[in-house]
Amino acid sequence: MASNTKPASTFRYGEKPVYTTSNGCPVESPQKFQRISNGPVLLQDFHLLDLLAHFDRERIPERVVHAKGAGAYGEFEVTHDVSDLTSVDMLNGVGKKTPLVARFSTVGGEKGSADTARDPRGFSLKFYTQEGNWDWVYNNTPVFFIRDPTNFPVFIHTQKRNPQTNLKDATMFWDYLSTHQESVHQVMTLFSDRGTPYSYRHMHGYSRHTHKFTKPDGSFVYVQTHLRTDQGIKTFTNEEAGKMAAENPDWNTQDLFEAIQRGEYPSWSVFIQVLTPEQAEKFRWNIFDLTKVWPQAEVPLRPVGKFTLNRNPENYFAEIEQVAFSPSHLVPGVEPSADPVLQGRLFSYPDTQRHRLGVNYQQIPVNAPLNAFNPFQRDGAMAVNGNYGANPGYPSSYHPLTYKPVSPALAAHEQWAGSVVNAVFAEVGPADYVQAAALWQVLGRTPGQQDNFVHNVAVHLCGAHVDTRERTYGMFANVDAGLGARIREETEKNVKN
Ligand code: NDP
Repeated sequence: MASNTKPASTFRYGEKPVYTTSNGCPVESPQKFQRISNGPVLLQDFHLLDLLAHFDRERIPERVVHAKGAGAYGEFEVTHDVSDLTSVDMLNGVGKKTPLVARFSTVGGEKGSADTARDPRGFSLKFYTQEGNWDWVYNNTPVFFIRDPTNFPVFIHTQKRNPQTNLKDATMFWDYLSTHQESVHQVMTLFSDRGTPYSYRHMHGYSRHTHKFTKPDGSFVYVQTHLRTDQGIKTFTNEEAGKMAAENPDWNTQDLFEAIQRGEYPSWSVFIQVLTPEQAEKFRWNIFDLTKVWPQAEVPLRPVGKFTLNRNPENYFAEIEQVAFSPSHLVPGVEPSADPVLQGRLFSYPDTQRHRLGVNYQQIPVNAPLNAFNPFQRDGAMAVNGNYGANPGYPSSYHPLTYKPVSPALAAHEQWAGSVVNAVFAEVGPADYVQAAALWQVLGRTPGQQDNFVHNVAVHLCGAHVDTRERTYGMFANVDAGLGARIREETEKNVKN
């Protein structure tokens, strides 16, 4: 007889495990219930109540953003020495390998929404390193719409549903963007064909935020990370993406799973851009501004490693729905920068997971670090790892712990001084259109890409109120006068009165 002691894994064909209630009591038949002849069922039938009550609680809150996603396991390998920049254990030594789990997602849609929607894609990795889990909570675009964290909830509300009609709302969408024109660089990226990737395998990932790589000698550099797809960039046109959304809303999920199943393991090459503190001080862009990139001609990509996805999850809910990423899950040798949006995310991500999964979310197997030991965190809902047994829940002189100095460099880092002010990060100005204009030129390098961009905006913007359309034409004219005129002409052609 098969053992019932491996609930987390799948029983193989022929094993025939004994079916029981959740407390392990064998059940004669899943179809039979205690009842009065062929009438009402009895409250004393635990099998029935157990089944129904559990079913009633199957859903946990979906993520407010990034609800629809797919994921897989894999491995990262260091290909180039970066020990001159950081003491991160995982990056220490060419050839070193670290296991990881990845999750890709759309941002705005609900859990059942279409994979091919025009939307940024989440691109998150959790590395199980010897010195803790290190999460890269990235996107497939190198910039974002906002540079102040307070704008995130309100911006997201404009991308979701109208509070009255419960419909997506083009006026709300463009009203926000055209009144917050620091977003124009990301708008340019989103409405290019890279806003509708063919699959999760065929897109790049970007840290977008600046981080710090540190060394025990007190030195540090600023870095941004690029994950470049080894499969090559492949995109849908607007119409292809719409058709796929109707025919197979789970296309990207299916593509990733089946590619791995076939043994076609997708991989990405990892690069970093590096600025010293002195270079950052003089840099012509504020390196903490999430709406700007570091031009690659000025700050070249330096190779670091490569990762490959080679194993599908066995259970989607347990391993992908419950995987909990946070930019604050860091390890010795890397630290957050002063980017205000990153600072907001350091709070919001674990806060979300405590809400969705509970205070002990790090105990869920897919989230559990290799070597965690923190008996000062006790109890709470679903404390399933033994709750640190008899270990004292305070720094006991009878059971001393080892405290490892991980960041002696901390004191030597940036020093900030200034008055407390109530202010935005930066007012919108001419500098906010420069990189958007550069991207317009980049699109011009590939035949058809500028035309597609104008078309992609026009078929969406045409649904917005006339005042909002006018303001949006002005925003694109700030990028390039010709672009503004083309968008006006094409959009007005599509307006249905
Ligand atoms: P480069 O000429 O050195 O690089 C252009 C970059 O643009 C490449 O990374 C390219 O990716 C990427 N790209 C090409 N088409 C698109 C698209 N439709 N949407 C988004 N990215 C695209 O230029 P710079 O570094 O001087 O930057 C010029 C502009 O390129 C920037 O203003 C920015 O909008 C965009 N960009 C810059 C990045 C950076 O880190 N510097 C990263 C991504 C975009 P690929 O190599 O795959 O063709």
